Amino acid sequence: MSVLIEREHIGIFGKMNAGKSSVMNLLTQQETSLVDAVPGTTADTRTALQEIHGLGPVKLFDTAGLNEPGELGAKKRRKAYNDLKECDLALLVIDPSAGDLAVERQVIAESRELDKPLLLIYNIFKEQDRAKIETLAGELELLRFYPRLAIRANDLACRAELLDFILANYQSKNDRLELLPFLQKDEYYVLVIPMDVETPPGRYLRPQAMVEEYITRHWAYPVSFRLDLAAARSLGGVETAAEQKRFADFLQNFQKRPQAIITDSQAMDILSQWCPADIALTTFSIVMINYFSRGRLRKFADGAQALKNLRSGDKVLIVEACNHSRIGEDIGTVQIPGHFAQKYPGVLLEHNFGREFQDNQALAQYKLIIHCGGCMLTAQKLQARLRDLESTGVPITNYGLFLACMQGEAALRRVLAPWNI
Ligand code: SF4
Repeated sequence: MSVLIEREHIGIFGKMNAGKSSVMNLLTQQETSLVDAVPGTTADTRTALQEIHGLGPVKLFDTAGLNEPGELGAKKRRKAYNDLKECDLALLVIDPSAGDLAVERQVIAESRELDKPLLLIYNIFKEQDRAKIETLAGELELLRFYPRLAIRANDLACRAELLDFILANYQSKNDRLELLPFLQKDEYYVLVIPMDVETPPGRYLRPQAMVEEYITRHWAYPVSFRLDLAAARSLGGVETAAEQKRFADFLQNFQKRPQAIITDSQAMDILSQWCPADIALTTFSIVMINYFSRGRLRKFADGAQALKNLRSGDKVLIVEACNHSRIGEDIGTVQIPGHFAQKYPGVLLEHNFGREFQDNQALAQYKLIIHCGGCMLTAQKLQARLRDLESTGVPITNYGLFLACMQGEAALRRVLAPWNI
């Protein structure tokens, strides 16, 4: 089966004469753009189609200077910001000696609004300008939060450095990622779905639907088990025994042993005990966060280590990327706070619901972020969140990993094992 490769759109933005066209020419290795010291040489956006080794087919946009005065300047600006919407990656070219940062401030603001990955390229005209880079970051704090490179953009010898920088800091939209990399054809996979009061009638939740569809599409067999959580948790009573037997009978009925169980994270307290040792175990939330973070589950696993250092008075942010109705034993507002009350007394919990996320200054106050599966976010939006957290140094973990941790180190290791972590 042939895979369609989509062209990457890379836009080059900045002030007049910052060196945007030189960056364009470095990438295309030819005079695609006219480079001249007269401000405003790029009359409108120029584009070039190109194959870049390591990235594949790209469309480059060399946009007009964003600080050109007058009516024509305003028109070009509108065009350039429209181009930004089309881009998968924005390169912001900065002349460190050019003073005023209004343009840079605006490009960063627009790219954050659109969740566009952004890389900074400082164009060094004179060697002494390198020293000014730190001063600029002092004036515009957000400059510290993006990967940066300082080169002489009009020097062809800098091309390899520029390409390496882009490849190291940009994940292509063509990089394919499997939802369940451990899946094998012709094998059975059990989905444990409690269907509590938050489950909408008539459909599965998105993580459940995605996992079921993926398994079926890949010629394996998804089988669902509705777990009665209330019965399973009736503190070892008759109902627990009956529910446990129902689950054991269900597994016994397979002529071929299921390869893995994927459970709702909130049932980890039950499944960590009931899932037989020969069947792998992980959770929907872990599957989702790995997928939407483009394979960065290890970062969330590392973040869980921060739980060990929490002290009374520390703040933790619980993040859910959608606004589903929160009723009953909701994970974010009831279950996770319940674990904190028991294991981390005095730790202060705050919530962030929906698609908007806190700004970097606000994020810095937290000792840990606990994020849901993020299935309602685009991969770009989740990447943008991770970029901000990385720049502030705040660790992040995930609902599934947190709830596994609450069952002990062995349970955490178990849910990570299918991912080779
Ligand atoms: S965005 Fe988060 S809270 Fe909403 S359904 Fe997806 S995983 Fe659950």
